Amino acid sequence: MAVGRIWVVTESSGGVASPAGLELLAAARRLAPVVEAVHWGGDAAEVAAVLGGHGATRILTVGDLEGALPAVPVAAALAARIEASGPPDAVFLTASYDQRDLAGRLSARLDRPVLTNAVGVTEGADGLLAEHAAFGGSTVVRARITAPPPHLFVFRPRTFAAEAAGGPPADVEVLAVPDTGAAGAATIVHRHVAERAGPALDEASVVVAGGRGLGDPSRFGLIEQLARRLGGAPAGTRAVVDAGWVPYSYQVGQTGTTVKPTVYLACGISGATQHLVGMKGARHIVAINKDRDAPIFGVADLGVVGDVTKVLPRLLEALDARDDRGGTQ
Ligand SMILES: Cc1cc2nc3c(=O)[nH]c(=O)nc-3n(C[C@H](O)[C@H](O)[C@H](O)COP(=O)(O)OP(=O)(O)OC[C@H]3O[C@@H](n4cnc5c(N)ncnc54)[C@H](O)[C@@H]3O)c2cc1C
Repeated sequence: MAVGRIWVVTESSGGVASPAGLELLAAARRLAPVVEAVHWGGDAAEVAAVLGGHGATRILTVGDLEGALPAVPVAAALAARIEASGPPDAVFLTASYDQRDLAGRLSARLDRPVLTNAVGVTEGADGLLAEHAAFGGSTVVRARITAPPPHLFVFRPRTFAAEAAGGPPADVEVLAVPDTGAAGAATIVHRHVAERAGPALDEASVVVAGGRGLGDPSRFGLIEQLARRLGGAPAGTRAVVDAGWVPYSYQVGQTGTTVKPTVYLACGISGATQHLVGMKGARHIVAINKDRDAPIFGVADLGVVGDVTKVLPRLLEALDARDDRGGTQ
């Protein structure tokens, strides 16, 4: 069953398209000849070039929502568009707060199931197969929706790599939003953006992560220092998040953030499968652990068997010394 058309839900802010949407466009492009972007906000014309350049031929936008919670009007507008012009074969969403909300509302409005937390997608003989990590990421299972289209898939961020396709700017089609009654009355009154000095964890090209092997929360300062020094983001395992050393926004893994940096430094981390599923897509993995049999060394490109509380200060000293000699990072 050939896939003809996929809608990819994208988010943007101030004319900048979020990386997650561009990642999904790259995946959709490989599976369907026609890929269209779903969008909300007042900047559709500003992102038309970048979304077109990543393979979207058209942007279906509901326009500026003036502070309304997006999922309600967007689900209503998409359902109306489907009723008028027919469904796409699939809708790809990313697991952001707004898009998880949208997936649920679309599923209810269209009376279609939704496959969530997918970590890949392939084309099978009977349609798209979503891949899901099971048993802590040690097994991948494939699932298929047998209901009529559209098939709804929610992917974990960083599942795919964004890749420009070089297409022309996408056409913009403004969708009418039907009356959503009381459900559409919810508005966003405040957005809390977590404070951070460096790049966002899921966008950083260098991630320095600390685990229980640091021994003491005060030593997490070494992780923060090294991350700052390398222009990267600090991160942690669930063990240190649960222990209250760092906030949940630092957590990498199955129940945290998925990262795909160029370099991932794992410091005092054992390498439990639930942690590995969130970081094993890093291009280069460097691990420091005092136990030479720690599972993290099974995925590391470079392993240092040593005491992290001694290795990290030495590493910082070496970087300082290199700077003093006029070297580059
Ligand atoms: C449903 C479920 C979901 C989960 N989700 C996540 C998740 O999203 N992310 C996540 O990270 N975990 C997750 N976990 C927890 C996971 O199973 C592990 O318990 C956790 O990742 C372990 O964290 P850690 O490596 O910091 O600690 P540990 O496993 O205790 O490892 C500490 C490591 O530090 C080393 N060490 C000790 N002292 C030193 C030293 N001085 N120098 C160098 N090395 C030293 C030790 O040899 C050891 O390998 C989940 C678990 C479950 C059941």
